[in-house]
Amino acid sequence: MASIGIRLSSPNSVRPREACMPLARSKRWESPHEFKGAQPLVKVFLSQSAYCRIHLHSNSELDDEVGGALVGLWCRDRDSDEQFVVVQNMLPARHTRQGSVYLTFTQDTLVGFHDEIEKNHNGKRIVGWYHTHPRMGVFLSHYDTWLHNNFFPEPWQVALVVEPHTSVAGFFVRRDDGALDPTRYFGFYELNGNLGRSMVEWHNLQGSEEESVGG
Ligand SMILES: [Zn+2]
Repeated sequence: MASIGIRLSSPNSVRPREACMPLARSKRWESPHEFKGAQPLVKVFLSQSAYCRIHLHSNSELDDEVGGALVGLWCRDRDSDEQFVVVQNMLPARHTRQGSVYLTFTQDTLVGFHDEIEKNHNGKRIVGWYHTHPRMGVFLSHYDTWLHNNFFPEPWQVALVVEPHTSVAGFFVRRDDGALDPTRYFGFYELNGNLGRSMVEWHNLQGSEEESVGG
């Protein structure tokens, strides 16, 4: 008998959610690399609660690398068609192999993320990952780039690197042609950072009062 086809992913999963980019209530944090060269495919919005959780996790272990998944939404602005991701939460990685020089996610790590999202963050996606570089700079190593391309291959998935000793950080975001520069990080938008007090303490990023200025 003919078998019935099973659709493994819903049509929604390949399309961004239609939304309005929350520029007006977000505080922009610019990277010194931002105005050179090509622009990123997606803008990154980071909620204050996700920032605080990442900050706490990053500072919980100052010798070995730690990391995890960035959880939230992949969206497209209704007016401008621009894509953006909203990081609403984080999940610390389990089943990792870690040392002072590298952090390795395993298949079990990814399975754990997906289980957790299904249970507690229904409808959300893994929009990327974060990890720390104790006493190193903000860059993606060869291994980090390999991990990013294999475990987070969607063009809109991003990588955040945090150096906890000097409190510096940056987002690595693919360009619209899919290329990823492992030395050049981008800033982000602190969600609701224009409404109340800003939480961000990453010194290498410059806060801007204005909403994004085109150019
Ligand atoms: Zn790394």
